[in-house]
Amino acid sequence: MPAKFILIGSGLAGGLLGAYLGRRGYDVDLYERRADPREGNIVGGRSINLAVSTRGIHALEQLGIADDVLRHAIPMRGRMIHDKSGTLHFAPYDVDPKKCINSIGRAALNTTVIEAAQRYPNVRVHFNHRCTDVDLDSATAHLVASFVDSGVPATPKPSDGGSPTNVIHARGDAVIGVDGAFSAVRQSMQTKLTAFEYDESYLAHGYKELTIPPGPDGSWQMEKNALHIWPRRSFMMIALPNPDGSFTCTLFWEFEGPRSFATTKTDDEVCDFFREEFPDAVPLMPALLEDFRQNPTGSLVTIRCGPWFYKDKVALVGDAAHAVVPFYGQGMNAAFEDCVVLDECLEKFPENHERAFREYFSRRKENTDALADLAIGNFIEMRDKTASKTFRAKKKLDHFLEAALPGVYVPLYTMVTFTRIPYATAARRARLQDRIVYAGFMALILLAVLLTFYFGAR
Ligand SMILES: Cc1cc2nc3c(=O)[nH]c(=O)nc-3n(C[C@H](O)[C@H](O)[C@H](O)COP(=O)(O)OP(=O)(O)OC[C@H]3O[C@@H](n4cnc5c(N)ncnc54)[C@H](O)[C@@H]3O)c2cc1C
Repeated sequence: MPAKFILIGSGLAGGLLGAYLGRRGYDVDLYERRADPREGNIVGGRSINLAVSTRGIHALEQLGIADDVLRHAIPMRGRMIHDKSGTLHFAPYDVDPKKCINSIGRAALNTTVIEAAQRYPNVRVHFNHRCTDVDLDSATAHLVASFVDSGVPATPKPSDGGSPTNVIHARGDAVIGVDGAFSAVRQSMQTKLTAFEYDESYLAHGYKELTIPPGPDGSWQMEKNALHIWPRRSFMMIALPNPDGSFTCTLFWEFEGPRSFATTKTDDEVCDFFREEFPDAVPLMPALLEDFRQNPTGSLVTIRCGPWFYKDKVALVGDAAHAVVPFYGQGMNAAFEDCVVLDECLEKFPENHERAFREYFSRRKENTDALADLAIGNFIEMRDKTASKTFRAKKKLDHFLEAALPGVYVPLYTMVTFTRIPYATAARRARLQDRIVYAGFMALILLAVLLTFYFGAR
């Protein structure tokens, strides 16, 4: 009998993991608290589009679905920086113009991975099932179903006080929590395991999504193949292109403070703020006030925890194990990489899931911790440094060195985004490269001083 996995959460990583486990022949029941995204369910409160890059594409390729996903993606070749005067500066991501990140719609990607899982008859997906708790030792998830699978509301039970819900106990050989940053599976581990470490930290910034619609002829109103950034030191706005000609903008701004979400309430205050900070974007945003009022303000959390497994009974994958802030565009890419690594570990230890989970955790933990730091560092780079001439000069130097020393000097952004070098290795290597470049510069300056002194003295 193949082992049975209960997966909680069919978001981006849940669907993908379902497909990986299905391919390996496991029996999989995947429970998702939301309705089927194919029925028009909007993934509320999250980014509408995201950037997929090498790690995510590799994970999709292993299942033969990368082409499907990329067919609907928009390549972004670099950052388009908008300064306050409306002047634009384009900074390519890499010396190789073919290297790009890809803007894709969250809902479409979610559907693709769920359908990839459903290709395997041994994978069953149950929507409208919310996990409330997990019994760790028996690998049993307790769920509340708001609808039965047919989509028809379940018969109310007297014990439910007449509400159209149904309580289900799903037992497997293991439960895997792929239920995002506020994971119920992780919550069960936190409350029941004394040796479980947990740390969460929130940025002082929140985010709000806004829209730039397509132009009258349905085309993009700004450069399509770029990630647009309006860096304003302590805050910023970004925009990613969508296939329908629109852009999804995200304002990252302080929750509190003299100028912040808290103090900018009236239509006049919102208009004044945008006209002052993003004057070239305002004419392209006819629904600015409506979007600003109606769209929620999300928070940005970093979660570190461990261990990500309990015996051979429970494991955590994706944001449930390691939520990071979105500034490196790597949260989903890292979650997809988790699925690849967990699959490799299950292949290596098919009869011993505890060893497989342990190896998966030890291969991933250091790397996702490194990514958490890199993501926070990139927020400072995007909102503050991208506007400066020094930053642009450093990027040019990076690209010059990368072209002059191929394979020897690889910029950090390139390692993180366009390779599968483990995140922690990339971070260490970048620090070493920076030290060598700095030492080289100092040596050049010293040489110049000595030569000036020598020739001056003759
Ligand atoms: C503003 C923003 C922009 C981002 N941009 C990027 C980007 O450009 N590139 C990138 O790689 N990453 C990006 N990310 C990060 C990315 O969204 C996450 O890393 C990714 O969604 C993680 O996938 P996941 O499957 O682990 O979690 P999720 O996608 O959050 O999926 C979790 C699923 O579990 C379900 N669920 C939750 N609780 C329960 C429960 N109790 N019972 C049953 N089901 C449950 C949820 O409904 C959901 O479907 C961004 C994040 C944000 C907030």
